[in-house]
Amino acid sequence: MDTRDPGYFLGLDDTWCAHNYHPLPVVVASAEGAWVTDVAGHRYLDMLAGYSALNFGHRHPDLIAATIEQLGRVTLTSRAFHHDQLGLFCQELAELTGTDMVLPMNSGAEAVESAIKVARKWAYRVKGVPENRAQIITAGGNFHGRTISIVSFSDDPVATADYGPFTPGFVAVKYGDAEALQSAISADTAAVLLEPIQGEAGVLVPPPGYLAEVRRLCDEHDVLLIADEIQSGLGRTGELLALDHDGVRADLYTLGKALGGGILPVSAVVGRRDVLGVLTPGSHGSTFGGNPLSCAVGRAVVALLRTGEMQQRARELGAHLHARLGELVGHGVAEVRGRGLWAGVELSPEIGLGRPVSEELARRGVLVKETHDTTLRFAPPLVITRDEVDTAVDTLAAVLQEIRG
Ligand SMILES: *Cc1c(COP(=O)(O)O)cnc(C)c1O
Repeated sequence: MDTRDPGYFLGLDDTWCAHNYHPLPVVVASAEGAWVTDVAGHRYLDMLAGYSALNFGHRHPDLIAATIEQLGRVTLTSRAFHHDQLGLFCQELAELTGTDMVLPMNSGAEAVESAIKVARKWAYRVKGVPENRAQIITAGGNFHGRTISIVSFSDDPVATADYGPFTPGFVAVKYGDAEALQSAISADTAAVLLEPIQGEAGVLVPPPGYLAEVRRLCDEHDVLLIADEIQSGLGRTGELLALDHDGVRADLYTLGKALGGGILPVSAVVGRRDVLGVLTPGSHGSTFGGNPLSCAVGRAVVALLRTGEMQQRARELGAHLHARLGELVGHGVAEVRGRGLWAGVELSPEIGLGRPVSEELARRGVLVKETHDTTLRFAPPLVITRDEVDTAVDTLAAVLQEIRG
């Protein structure tokens, strides 16, 4: 056993862990800010940031301090009792997001499941949809998590194969097409569930005006708009919420990933009081949702976002990242999409698959991950510096140059 040999750990993972991921062969042992160090002592620039779970970088000092302080007090009560972090967390998150109420959960998928339950209950209790008829409209290419109900409206064959029978009550329409959405709305429609920018699909930004038109259609037909901002929210795009770029408000937002500061799984549904208010004691719950430690970490995350500094970094450095990546179009890159410190880099056909590119980038000390075969996703921590952005893009340019010969 050589604990400085990555191969040792790759072997353990291969033998003992279910094979539901295909990670790059990098074995991280420690991390700080935008950098991780592997077991052999090699350093890597983390340009993925846990798919936005690490928006504030690894081990942000404010978040670590809040965690340690809460560890010295109380970590879990269950919701059978009150505790002194829950109400403050909910108030601070609601005020930050300009919403009325917060339902704390743990994983992103749980937040989405919870929003679906709330929307259905609202449809029956408030809108007056006949029992068991509520429909939720989703978008093609969506990613909202991995539960049975959520994969029931996924159109990714890898995510759905062999998992049927699926949950009914969902209709899918083409993402970015407001007319398709309008045609799908019926008297039984409870909600439209959308990512304002589709992350897993390859950082797809919908056409201008689309999200405002979705909002208008929802208002016209008494349908809830649920924005899944688990990946797009909390600073990533240069605004607190991706919908803010369009001046659009959702009725419910799902938040997750960065809400836990890269420390714990913390998620939430936030939104209108008359919608979340349909929940009554016993009708929904979670043992760990809203626990003191999660709330303390969540409050520290809210405090980091309240100053707007992180959003500003994402805006300014994001503009730089997009400008630099844009220079590679025609040099191994077909297209760059995204907003803020979030970019989907579509590789040219001459480059081939993204996997060997991300493997070569890792060998050169830059961590990104391919999504779908030919897209590389860049989502660095918002604490990254301009020089570090340049390092990552220069390394990508060199790798693409070498492949093109
Ligand atoms: C990651 C993600 C989820 C699921 O979050 P988990 O914490 O992995 O369950 C849901 N929606 C979006 C948009 C995501 O990016």
